Amino acid sequence: LKHYVTGKAAESDMEVVATEAVELKVPEGSKDVIVLKNLYLSCDPYMRSRMTKHDTPSYVPDFVPGEVIIGYGVSKVVDSTHQDFKVGELVWGMTGWEEYSLISNPQNFFKVNHPEIPLSHYTGILGMPGFTAHVGFHAIAAPKQGEYVFVSAAAGAVGQLVGQFAKLMGCYVVGSAGSDEKVELLKNKFGFDDAFNYKKESNLNQTLQRFFPEGIDIYFENVGGATLEAVLQNMRLHGRIVACGMISQYNLVEPEGIRNLFQIVAKRIRMEGFVVFDYFANYYKFEEMTVQYIKGGKITYVEDIVEGLENAPSALIGLYEGRNVGKQVVVVSRE
Ligand code: NDP
Repeated sequence: LKHYVTGKAAESDMEVVATEAVELKVPEGSKDVIVLKNLYLSCDPYMRSRMTKHDTPSYVPDFVPGEVIIGYGVSKVVDSTHQDFKVGELVWGMTGWEEYSLISNPQNFFKVNHPEIPLSHYTGILGMPGFTAHVGFHAIAAPKQGEYVFVSAAAGAVGQLVGQFAKLMGCYVVGSAGSDEKVELLKNKFGFDDAFNYKKESNLNQTLQRFFPEGIDIYFENVGGATLEAVLQNMRLHGRIVACGMISQYNLVEPEGIRNLFQIVAKRIRMEGFVVFDYFANYYKFEEMTVQYIKGGKITYVEDIVEGLENAPSALIGLYEGRNVGKQVVVVSRE
């Protein structure tokens, strides 16, 4: 990161630099440290928040200008003085946007238990976004068969899975996305009952009335802003809004005000936010469940793969412009 960012983030806020060659070994005498070779990096919307200097601490620490950007990734252990991590093992967790990283607190890394699945999936369906979809939909929304579900940013890393989980639960699910190509994917690949391109709709309230004549039971919120305002008008009595993210607000200097909040009272809506980190103790159960879904052909997943660390800044900025189709992954090295 070159400097703290205010307003819209740009590729030019980051730079790729070469450092002097270092030995790829844990420094002499350092205990519980690992050296990672980074293979796949994950571009995630929350990273924008870390580029800004916050006056009051955010839920994740701010990045430090001049230092390497940190994010989720899949890596191989190339040296270790930590008893739980052996050379050659594959792991995923918070690593640096660099070819090799020295990690002194590796206890937050997860093991890749299923290397037979494409490794990039550990940035998406089997990584943080996939687990987010699971926690948000199953634990926070507490869905019931036959309920009406609406998902925004539905063709992304989280949304495509929420829709598929909803179908597996026997719900009726509609997704919104920002291009006709994504709408096609939602309907024909991910099995959503219906989908629309929100950029082509002039009145989102009427759009939602059209897709949900009886109202929405569960809204999986990924975008905030005008979409949330329209959803509030279309919720059913005792509906649930899972506040997962609000990407439309991340590049604004001042977040927008939200109208229609009184609907929360009138419709007895439960709106609940969550942060996936709080649930990581249950991750391995999710990994097993999802691997079975993948192997059984019950769930599919689309990734948008960019080659080369030098293309990571552009890939990250692409998230806020909707350039990614599916989970945005950066390949640093394939082995
Ligand atoms: P995506 O893969 O969905 O990528 C982001 C997408 O958001 C873009 O492709 C774009 O799709 C859409 N978008 C961008 N800008 C806007 C805008 N102004 N208005 C509406 N849509 C926009 O990202 P993820 O699936 O990884 O993340 C989805 C949400 O989940 C984010 O809000 C993220 O912060 C949140 N999240 C929350 C977590 C938690 O613990 N609570 C953990 C992980 C993610 P389109 O073409 O459809 O516009």
